[in-house]
Amino acid sequence: MQQILNYINGELRAPVNNQWLDNVEPATGKVYSQIPSSDADDVALATEAAEKAFQTWSITPVAERSRIMDKIASLIEEKLPELAAAESKDNGKPLKLASHVDIPRARDNFHFFATGILHFASESHAMEDNAINYTLRTPIGVVGCISPWNLPLYLFTWKIAPALAAGNCVVAKPSEVTPMTAYLLSEICIEAGLPKGVLNIVHGLGQHVGNAITEHPKIKAISFTGGTQTGATIAAKAAPKFKKLSLELGGKNPNIIFADCDFEKALKTSVMSSFANQGQICLCGSRIFIERSIYNKFRDAFVEKVNALNVSYPTDPKANLGAVVSKPHMEKVLSYIQLAQEEGGTVLTGGNQVHLSDDYANGYYIEPTVIEGLDYLCRTNQEEIFGPVVTLTPFDSEEEVLTMANSTEYGLASTVWTENLTKAHRMAQQIEAGIVWINCWLLRDLRTPFGGVKNSGVGREGGFEALKFFTETKNVCVKL
Ligand code: NAD
Repeated sequence: MQQILNYINGELRAPVNNQWLDNVEPATGKVYSQIPSSDADDVALATEAAEKAFQTWSITPVAERSRIMDKIASLIEEKLPELAAAESKDNGKPLKLASHVDIPRARDNFHFFATGILHFASESHAMEDNAINYTLRTPIGVVGCISPWNLPLYLFTWKIAPALAAGNCVVAKPSEVTPMTAYLLSEICIEAGLPKGVLNIVHGLGQHVGNAITEHPKIKAISFTGGTQTGATIAAKAAPKFKKLSLELGGKNPNIIFADCDFEKALKTSVMSSFANQGQICLCGSRIFIERSIYNKFRDAFVEKVNALNVSYPTDPKANLGAVVSKPHMEKVLSYIQLAQEEGGTVLTGGNQVHLSDDYANGYYIEPTVIEGLDYLCRTNQEEIFGPVVTLTPFDSEEEVLTMANSTEYGLASTVWTENLTKAHRMAQQIEAGIVWINCWLLRDLRTPFGGVKNSGVGREGGFEALKFFTETKNVCVKL
């Protein structure tokens, strides 16, 4: 059986303790590889290597850093079919999604920050009394990057690329649930000639590896994407050590459909924003609010489209939804569907586990599920489910839908469908979220600030925001 290895100081190696974890293929429910169950000893080795590499990498000319990172981007492009197949097998997502979204975006992340760093500049402030201030932005040192399972290589590289571009060295931990493409990335980094120790990838459990990264005194900043509870744990441990923190956490995003929307566009996109990646995207719109005058029409058309979605094994070209990521996650999602019914909801379509046949009989598949008739304050409408489950709720006024949209502890993303631009801008101002999409969803420009408000996170990723996060800012004041 294949063994995934840690990538420390430029080498692929087993964990110090020689302990291993099973890695399960969600499409079949079978163990298909093993990953290191690393601990603080491996993180210590990785940090030591990163500290040493920092002495050189931090002063390596930007153009050279950029060249190596671009080489990594080219190799991701070259190996796209292999990486997409690995991502789909590891995560359960349809192969076509991994081929068209996950891996191209991982390539773009490296390319974007490889070139972005060439354009990164800092401010100067001239003073009237013959003095000038300028801002120096220097790399921080060793930084930690911890990422989740839903968009494995996509989110892993979204953190690593700006950190490396800015001149830092990295100790990174992918999710133990989906480690495979991070392992393949380590092979790519070796092939690209990334100097040893610049990037270190330590595999294992959050409470061991993630915790050791959070607590290590030499790791000066943590960029984390994952659940809100984990973010709170990391924040509590990192705060007394005064580490810089970027936290991208959970969401419960509203998708608001006004009667004056372009109906067909809103309908088609809402099916995607509800069920893409089996609903396991932090940006999915899981609460759909529909203006009452079109509620029945939208509901019926939506359910009809959802009924046409195909749940199948990930390599099936006809699969709209593949497997959810793990058995415990499948059970969690199914328990929320049960809860929704206990809370008075009506399941309009879906609601059950899907049992495929043959090799896939023990995989983790769930029907895309649409529920109506729930109070907007009930648990189903307040807690993050992170699966193929959406609720439909009618509203009568802008004021009412804003109250409902803003009622959760989260504030990551939102979508508004209306042809009335004035109303759209008014809504955009008042929705409590880091991202508002108007008449679109998941349209991403990598230069824009990305992140959430309230319990969806602290800080912003993307573009120069990320480069600012991964640099230390110093003001130099010169009297002329
Ligand atoms: P998770 O919080 O369970 O795990 C995320 C990562 O943190 C994993 O690598 C895990 O091993 C590690 N971890 C776990 N416990 C840790 C600890 N005590 N210390 C340090 N690290 C620890 O999240 P998940 O289940 O992998 O991912 C799903 C969650 O991620 C959802 O809540 C989703 O909304 C969120 N998410 C947010 C964004 C965003 O951009 N805001 C993007 C994707 C996913």
